[in-house]
Amino acid sequence: MTNYVITGAGAAGLYTAYRLLQSGTLKADDTAKVFEWADRPGGRIYTYTFPPKFGGNGLYCEFGGMRFATDANFPSAAKITEGHVLVQHMIIDLGLQAKVVPFQQSDNRLYYLRGVNIYEKDISSLDGLPYGFNAEFKNFLSANTVPKPYTADNILGAIGALFAPTLGASNADRGRWCTYYANGKVGPGAGTPSFPPGTLAHNMGYWNLLYDQLGDEGFDYSADGTGYTSNVINWNAADAMQANNDYSSTTSYQRLDGGYGLLFDALAEKVTALAARYPASGIFYGQQLKGLVESETDESTTCMFIDHGKSHDAVYHVKADQLFLAMPRRSLELIAPGCPSSYMLNNEKVRYFLESSIDQPAIKVVLIFDQAWWTGPDCKYPPNLALPTGAPANTPKAQWVGGATITDLPLRMVYYFANNIPGGPGTSAGPYVMLASYDDMNYSNFWRELEVAGEYKTAPSLIDQPLKGPTPVPVNSPLAHTLLKQLAEVHGIEIEKVPVPTAVYFQDWGQDPFGGGYHGWAAHYNICKAMDCVRAPYQKILDQPARKTYIIGSCYSFDQAWVEGALCTAESVLQDFVGLPPLNQYIASYKLICTG
Ligand SMILES: Cc1cc2nc3c(=O)[nH]c(=O)nc-3n(C[C@H](O)[C@H](O)[C@H](O)COP(=O)(O)OP(=O)(O)OC[C@H]3O[C@@H](n4cnc5c(N)ncnc54)[C@H](O)[C@@H]3O)c2cc1C
Repeated sequence: MTNYVITGAGAAGLYTAYRLLQSGTLKADDTAKVFEWADRPGGRIYTYTFPPKFGGNGLYCEFGGMRFATDANFPSAAKITEGHVLVQHMIIDLGLQAKVVPFQQSDNRLYYLRGVNIYEKDISSLDGLPYGFNAEFKNFLSANTVPKPYTADNILGAIGALFAPTLGASNADRGRWCTYYANGKVGPGAGTPSFPPGTLAHNMGYWNLLYDQLGDEGFDYSADGTGYTSNVINWNAADAMQANNDYSSTTSYQRLDGGYGLLFDALAEKVTALAARYPASGIFYGQQLKGLVESETDESTTCMFIDHGKSHDAVYHVKADQLFLAMPRRSLELIAPGCPSSYMLNNEKVRYFLESSIDQPAIKVVLIFDQAWWTGPDCKYPPNLALPTGAPANTPKAQWVGGATITDLPLRMVYYFANNIPGGPGTSAGPYVMLASYDDMNYSNFWRELEVAGEYKTAPSLIDQPLKGPTPVPVNSPLAHTLLKQLAEVHGIEIEKVPVPTAVYFQDWGQDPFGGGYHGWAAHYNICKAMDCVRAPYQKILDQPARKTYIIGSCYSFDQAWVEGALCTAESVLQDFVGLPPLNQYIASYKLICTG
């Protein structure tokens, strides 16, 4: 009898449970249990349906992940090898193809940088940009092929082309990227005194490198104009080359009509149905892993849980023969103090690798309006929007969708989702959903402090807001006022003409137990080695191959800002350590992770 224990019912945990339970390899008396702290599946995928009082029949917004990249064959054919391969195969396996629709973005984005409005297609020279670019930056533009318009995406793309030339962006190139992560060096034409030719790319901080190449103002423009501050922090330059060139904000994506959460609800349902065949198996919500102890008599682990439905003092124990810790760095760090000092998570050699992933805090603030004021006559700088796919040509502008509008104001990015009830709004005039702030890193803190009303009521470290779901914020709160002021500025409309929203919702992924919305590899780490070692710390770091404890999830993956990374690390462990065959023939040749 084997007890499989999975902690965390996010993408990685649910996928692992699904694969184990449908593999046909479990014996009749085996158990498979998933323990999840929150009261729902999905982790950092959180599709929230607004209460009907806000006028929508199924109106929703994604407070976590919202889109995925696809293969040209998807969803009509089984041969899926490009884009987020495992995500697409799961959508097919779970029969959700009919829900797949394009994630529509603006093709001429609106920017508001340093008080100046400008549309993307007008950035054909540096002239209209309010930055004091130095000679270094201008030399960079003339010496390198930077496609026009000179957007931040195109500048970061040119950095990638200079430092990681000809590596490609197809999934077939993932192996070459792994080689680059481990051994990529500054080439002869790209060096400077700070980073001479031969410097290993993974030993450079990306901010350091951008500063070196673009100068201070060139860096500031690239940072302001990319929307995601996480793209330009001082993370591992080798990783940044890949991440900023692979999937950028201009890549075309798809989504599920009704929300990404549909995939994880379906996966959880499937796991529950499959688990019914095994004793005491299933998904258990409201269960917080507090600590772990290695058995002294065999290779198992004792997991200590708190049941949040009962007394918080009542810790109960569960034996795990195979343990899958399906959670990010910060969640693991919160468990470590509850383990003996000799436990794996507290081991110095393991911690070396656990600290290779940087938490990237991210927040979303979503507003609901009765009027789509950004399409009205008072708005001097309206966003460029697209007719929703499949909607009649005479659909009113208010129902058009798009984004991101990008600004250096703390709100950073705005998306316009109109009336996004599943199946389309029909003749309904509203309400309208706006992702009014999507930002990360230092900008998250701007909104976090505004969201707190008065003095803190609990220790900030005990606020587990992201576990509970989006927090409704009063429409006349400091947060709402500040956001409306910035929205007015970005769109060139008088603040008095911006209507009061009917609802404001806030989600802060930087809080515990997540510590970040997504992650990036830290500089001065060999990414391949870290990715390979973290997933199986006993086998790869501690030389104790009989202990079967694995760390999975997007945090330590090839795709740290994507569900795909969570599924890839899980699939790699199931293939390499549990002995399952690949999910299907296409996965057999797909580079799941880097090893080194
Ligand atoms: C704002 C935002 C935007 C994003 N955009 C996209 C996107 O568009 N597309 C995309 O593919 N990805 C996107 N991502 C990333 C994606 O959501 C994540 O990479 C992915 O969901 C991570 O899955 P995971 O299983 O690795 O971890 P998680 O989803 O973090 O799952 C970990 C689980 O462990 C649970 N847990 C933690 N501690 C404990 C404990 N002590 N005991 C029990 N349970 C515990 C958590 O509650 C959680 O359910 C986005 C993320 C955010 C936040």
